[in-house]
Amino acid sequence: MGEPRRHDVVVIGAGVSGIYQIKRLVDLGLDAVVLEADDDLGGTWYRNRYPGCRFDSESYTYGYSFSKELLDEWHWKERFSSQPENLRYLNHVADLFDLRRHMRFGARVERMTWDEDECVWHLTLADGDTYAARFVVASLGPLSTPTLPSYEGMDDFAGEAFHTFHWPTEPVELAGRRVGVIGTGATGIQVIAEIADQVAELKVFQRRPNWSSPLNNGPISEDEMAEIRDRYDEIFANCAASPGGFEHVPRWGFWDHTAEERRAIWDELYASPGFAILVANFGEIFFDEAANRELSDYIADRIRARVDDPVVAEKLIPRDHGFGLQRLPLETNYFEAYNRDNVELVDLSDTPIERFTPTGIQTTGAHHELDVIVYATGFDAITGAYDRIDIRGVDGTTLAEKWRDGPRTYVGVLTRGFPNLFMVAGPQSVSGSTNFPRAIETGVDWVTDLIEHAAQRGHRRVEAESDAEQEWVDEVVRAHERLLFRRSKGWFTGYNSNVAGHQEGQVRYQAYFGGAPRYRDKVDEIAADGYRGIDLS
Ligand code: NAP
Repeated sequence: MGEPRRHDVVVIGAGVSGIYQIKRLVDLGLDAVVLEADDDLGGTWYRNRYPGCRFDSESYTYGYSFSKELLDEWHWKERFSSQPENLRYLNHVADLFDLRRHMRFGARVERMTWDEDECVWHLTLADGDTYAARFVVASLGPLSTPTLPSYEGMDDFAGEAFHTFHWPTEPVELAGRRVGVIGTGATGIQVIAEIADQVAELKVFQRRPNWSSPLNNGPISEDEMAEIRDRYDEIFANCAASPGGFEHVPRWGFWDHTAEERRAIWDELYASPGFAILVANFGEIFFDEAANRELSDYIADRIRARVDDPVVAEKLIPRDHGFGLQRLPLETNYFEAYNRDNVELVDLSDTPIERFTPTGIQTTGAHHELDVIVYATGFDAITGAYDRIDIRGVDGTTLAEKWRDGPRTYVGVLTRGFPNLFMVAGPQSVSGSTNFPRAIETGVDWVTDLIEHAAQRGHRRVEAESDAEQEWVDEVVRAHERLLFRRSKGWFTGYNSNVAGHQEGQVRYQAYFGGAPRYRDKVDEIAADGYRGIDLS
């Protein structure tokens, strides 16, 4: 093995956060490189090419805010932009700022070892190449480690089968084919709605239904885009002031209104774009069971009104959690898909999967003949990408060991025992719980300032203090425990039935739910206080 390539900073991952991170580091004049496992940039938007893939943040609140030039020239074509356009956007950003030359693709980091004598990280890639860097910024993405179920005979299936995250780059022929989709989270709901009228037969294998409400997407004309451009300062200020990082503003006073007044408000919100129904709703729905139940009953009636077969409608209504208490998927004609003759809901709670066969899926009720199986089965969220790198800190302990029962961090950026490793969109930050790019800009800016602070003062080592880390974990737990979703089964609470240690009942405090403004205040205070809680030496 030759000499490692040496850099001031290695950034891992060229997704939404890695792209902005390298921009900031290069602007500072630091010698930085991005190592990206995939063969091109884009992260989530490079990988998730499944039909129907789009974000459910308003496009103009999702784009980067840091460059007026970029804001002035980019035209978002839809209110909620789709994967191909999002990938074009990220490529455009990289080209505009000439960032590609700082990125290396096909560079999967497999091991990272802290060298206490030199105060550097040594990184080893899957191809054997080695790097050494004073600082490492992990921009690994919260939803970048897909997980599969483990049913008997999965490998025997002779048709095409793939996880939505690994949707092939070449077009997949679906017309005239019998397709099975496993999973009804945000991804499954998008795929199902999009392909229902394209395929010969669609079988939806649903274990638990999810609440879902209309996205209410639409085009953005040249004129509207011009108005948006004029309003960008206001838009980003609104996002910064809201707990979720959106323009939607929560209201309070659920019980001050009559039931009729509440229904009138919900009628309006149900017809409004994006997450309005969730985050412009009464804040009480997240804390007060009776309030949440009333809203859930309202949404259930909406589902009943949209699904022709009352038996199917009841199967699509969640009973185990209230509306908005797991990450809410937004949909376009999802419920109407079940009114089609070629679509069948296979309720796995009635008829569980027994095994896969060469020609399909055998449940306890029937054998379903399939040509294509789509796994929309989700991710080892937030900590999964960290667990898959062998990261060894000061005493040789791995990060996966430290986080076995759940992550422990200081403001979601640092974790004790792993100096000079900074996480952007990391566990226990607000990235998982709010409009992603708004939160990553906070994270990247904060990490960049900290690196600059350390570099200017000649500090070689930056590590969270033990007490400070414990205080942050306590804050994360407090914020989590106040909310009704603390009892729900979703990736917000660390649940994934396909990952050991993440099954039901083993709550992991994965994200900070205190809201983006509170988070920003906290990290700003820490910086203003000379990076309180961080040992700089
Ligand atoms: P998910 O929400 O975790 O849903 C996974 C689905 O697969 C669930 O319905 C789950 O059922 C099912 N499943 C898992 N293992 C199974 C098994 N062994 N047998 C049968 N069913 C199984 O994952 P996702 O839909 O990929 O969404 C993850 C996150 O990605 C979202 O919450 C969102 O944050 C993000 N996302 C965003 C967008 C967007 O912006 N519009 C779109 C897609 C995804 P159980 O519930 O019973 O476990």
